[in-house]
Amino acid sequence: MLPAAETVPIDDAAIASALERERLADSVRVREVLARARELKGLEAGDMAALMDVSDPGLLHEVFDTAQSVKQSIYGRRLVIFAPLYVSNMCANECTYCAFRARNTELERRALTQDEIARETRMLVDQGHKRVLLVAGESYPREGFSYVLKSIDTVYGMTHDQGEIRRINVNVAPLTLEQFRELKAAKIGTYQLFQETYHRGTYASVHVAGRKKDYDWRVTAMDRAMQAGIDDVGIGVLFGLFDWRYELLALMQHIRHLEARYGVGPHTISVPRLEPASGSDVAAHPPHAVSDVDFRKIVAILRLAVPYTGIIMSTRESARIRRETFALGVSQISAGSRTNPGGYAGSERENASQFCLGDHRPLDEVIRDVAGLGYIPSFCTACYRLGRTGQDFMDLAKPGEIKEHCDPNALATFVEYLIDYGSEETRAVGERLVESVLASMEPSTRQMAAGMVKRVRAGKRDVFC
Ligand code: SAM
Ligand code: SF4
Repeated sequence: MLPAAETVPIDDAAIASALERERLADSVRVREVLARARELKGLEAGDMAALMDVSDPGLLHEVFDTAQSVKQSIYGRRLVIFAPLYVSNMCANECTYCAFRARNTELERRALTQDEIARETRMLVDQGHKRVLLVAGESYPREGFSYVLKSIDTVYGMTHDQGEIRRINVNVAPLTLEQFRELKAAKIGTYQLFQETYHRGTYASVHVAGRKKDYDWRVTAMDRAMQAGIDDVGIGVLFGLFDWRYELLALMQHIRHLEARYGVGPHTISVPRLEPASGSDVAAHPPHAVSDVDFRKIVAILRLAVPYTGIIMSTRESARIRRETFALGVSQISAGSRTNPGGYAGSERENASQFCLGDHRPLDEVIRDVAGLGYIPSFCTACYRLGRTGQDFMDLAKPGEIKEHCDPNALATFVEYLIDYGSEETRAVGERLVESVLASMEPSTRQMAAGMVKRVRAGKRDVFC
């Protein structure tokens, strides 16, 4: 086994020089980068930097257009749907941007009991969710980390009517190698953790107390996860804390570090923007606020730089921004979210929530909207249940083969949703989409998809290939 990583070296000088060198990239250089991106082989730091300051509307349109076509050729019209499940807002850290921070007295503290977690899960199952992201602050009830493991068991154990949660991803504080092994044994999907900012000075200024102060412990979490056998990891940056241009290039260095050591990069990248949070000045006035157009650039540049890595957008963003950004490269979205523990069974209590949501719509409304825009909402969980994770997933994804699985799986799970949970209005929009997607498929994929959809319509559930 590789020795433990002590840090992930982020080369600030290389970032500064790439940004400086490409600051005035002209249209010839930008188009050269876009032509390379169309080959789906990704981009290096200098290429990414060349796209960052494009402001000419015509050229920017070309950047977005290229991102759109890369997304289309790899992900087609699929959008994977999930919901966060906040089990606890107790936290021993002091992240100045987060409402859960230890010294915030405006927050009602709560760690759900296993019965309450089961109740929350049932609410999600009854809405039609199949994928959950379990989230917690960094301080667990008396049993310590086993609380997280028990919570996972509780969520997987809840079935109601024809529904159940089929994949749990987890976003909890960095763990030891041994704890990561336990998390792997609990059958999680992706382990997700955001570095927040890769810039050490900024990191130190916003993480003022608690274990999270230790930049290196956090940045090496993915190394320990990979060494423990969790090969689907999700990374991210909390945009607004520092210059997004720096963050993207540092994030790329993190990706290259993982690829070099473990042969595979992250499964997903999340792109949260700072949202207002109770008791936080930083969240109300982000020091490096990211404008809507820069946010779209971030998604587009990531799509071109790492075409096979999923991009996750949460309900922090408004319905309008979400609509505008799907096409540029987002592959997973949360929907119908609550960020206060107990928020699904109870009410959305702002004074127990982590941050303010931008999109408050219930799942059914989001599904109808997404389907109306021509995207296939997918509740698919096939890959990780068939062992298609880490390198195996990438091997399958790269030649585009994964589409032959993903499109039929997306349609089968979408039809399952429509029949079991969709409102009449959503069903009408959805069924039209299913017919048009089937009609547009290659004959062999269509045959497979039509067969799976038929089995779902006949009453079979959890049909996947
Ligand atoms: N406590 C663990 C941690 O910090 O890694 C995991 C859960 S934490 C609730 C999940 C993420 O929420 C953080 O990594 C951070 O990026 C994000 N977050 C915190 N405050 C936020 C805010 N005001 N707006 C948007 N996202 C925020
Ligand atoms: Fe705690 Fe995570 Fe919020 Fe920081 S971001 S205060 S660690 S819950």
